[in-house]
Amino acid sequence: MAEEMNPLEELLVDELKDLYSAENQIIKALPKMAKAASAPELRRAFERHLEETRRQVDRLEQIAESLDIRLTGKKCKGMEGLIEEGKEIMAEDLEENALDAGLIGAAQKVEHYEIAAYGTARAHAAMLGYNKAAKLLQQTLDEEGATDKKLTALAESVINVEAVHA
Ligand code: FE
Ligand code: FE
Repeated sequence: MAEEMNPLEELLVDELKDLYSAENQIIKALPKMAKAASAPELRRAFERHLEETRRQVDRLEQIAESLDIRLTGKKCKGMEGLIEEGKEIMAEDLEENALDAGLIGAAQKVEHYEIAAYGTARAHAAMLGYNKAAKLLQQTLDEEGATDKKLTALAESVINVEAVHA
């Protein structure tokens, strides 16, 4: 990017910094969520998304390089709040099934936040003609969407309503 950024470019850089912070916070949170999960499929889903999230961070770094910008120095407060709420669920004394249900809900809030944030950044990058960045952002957006769908399917297969009733 040129030394003198236009306002939409400045906005895009802020959005990318936010995403970079958000993904790095998720990398710290996911191992705790995996550890808290009871259903093996849910635990594996969290572990797999951790690996995927690391690649998403790499993708953001690729974007930063192509735009010649830095992504450090900003904290995503939205993600901080969502992760805080996830911690509250883990701190409650919940029965296994209910805890898994709560973890899935917390994770889906994170995915929806990411979907909104990546969708916005992708749209702004495309408007500005940064096609490589837009393409990379779309790849991550697709992964977040797939993760969200997977979590919905897991909620249906893994949560034992009978056990929660008991
Ligand atoms: Fe992500
Ligand atoms: Fe994600």
